[in-house]
Amino acid sequence: MENLSVSVKVQPEYEVLIGKGLINYVGSLIQNIRPRGACAVITDTNVEKLYLNTVLDSLKAAGFTPAAYAFPAGEEHKTMETLTGILDFMSEIPLTRSDFVVALGGGVTGDMAGFAAGVYMRGIPFIQIPTTFLAAVDSSVGGKTAVDLKTGKNLAGLFHQPSLVITDIDAFKTLTPENYACGSAESIKMGVISDPELFRIFECENPAEYESEIVKRAVQAKADVVMRDEKETGDRKLLNLGHTYGHAVEKLSNFTLPHGHAVAIGLAMAARAAEKMGDMDFNTKDRIIKTLEKNNLPTACGFSAKEIYLSSLNDKKMAGKNLSIIVPKKIGQCEIRKIPASEFEKFIELGLK
Ligand code: NAD
Ligand code: ZN
Repeated sequence: MENLSVSVKVQPEYEVLIGKGLINYVGSLIQNIRPRGACAVITDTNVEKLYLNTVLDSLKAAGFTPAAYAFPAGEEHKTMETLTGILDFMSEIPLTRSDFVVALGGGVTGDMAGFAAGVYMRGIPFIQIPTTFLAAVDSSVGGKTAVDLKTGKNLAGLFHQPSLVITDIDAFKTLTPENYACGSAESIKMGVISDPELFRIFECENPAEYESEIVKRAVQAKADVVMRDEKETGDRKLLNLGHTYGHAVEKLSNFTLPHGHAVAIGLAMAARAAEKMGDMDFNTKDRIIKTLEKNNLPTACGFSAKEIYLSSLNDKKMAGKNLSIIVPKKIGQCEIRKIPASEFEKFIELGLK
């Protein structure tokens, strides 16, 4: 199959390359934008075993001088401590301002390597090689980077756009079904936000046959929003569809529920609440719930409306006493609505059943 690509037209513009087996050619693909230099390849201990050597060989064959750093896999290591380790490693190489960082892994790796690249010497370029479905369709594009703090997820970070994103869909083959479903959840979310065709792929018999098309459409949809509102002062909030409910549920589960599963529950809740408030018809709500379930995602949880409400009050998106919720109206059309935080409990109640 032919490779696909999406241009993300922010300043400076970058390409997202999507195809099978691209991980074997990262060196020559990077050469098109950066002819030479040293680089730090940041990865986690799981991805290290699977793909690091291939990436290092390809970089060396293209004339680069790579050095690799693997941190312990898992969200619990998305911390300032790990970030410090990465920065120390980069300075010991030593990486200079004409060098670059490669993020090889899922969203945790991308968020931390991007953060490190964004602050090292006040910012050097970085390249994303997402290896999870979720990172491919969501976190590798858009330039948000972060680590978690004790009080919450993604509380410290900065905007730093990658210079190139290389997505090899063959890497999804080694994912657990649970992690794979997280990518489906974020893609279904993108479909509901702005791409009915993307949503329809997940209604079909075997969406896995259309992975390249899914990644391309999800990235294009995200890029369109990011190009309109890079720093989330307006429209970019749409990407949070299902996330205010989802984050609250994720937190209540003590993060035992994977992010994408929490988002699926949040998306189902947003759809049910929208239908009851008269913003969405019954058939559309039904399609959203059925599509999530068909793609191995949960649509309900055992927490009460009160518990979810109290958990969501600590969410960083609760600006002052009002909060912006994303109300889905049709497949491909959502609205940002400001409501008093106190009203949110009603939405949660309506969303639960
Ligand atoms: P992750 O990076 O922890 O990856 C999940 C697990 O899969 C890890 O154990 C990892 O080692 C393993 N893995 C990665 N690639 C693999 C492969 N090809 N085969 C087998 N195992 C593989 O997490 P994730 O699910 O990719 O992403 C979640 C993170 O992304 C969260 O921290 C979230 O906050 C962040 N995120 C960021 C943005 C953004 O815009 N920056 C958007 C969405 C999510
Ligand atoms: Zn998400």
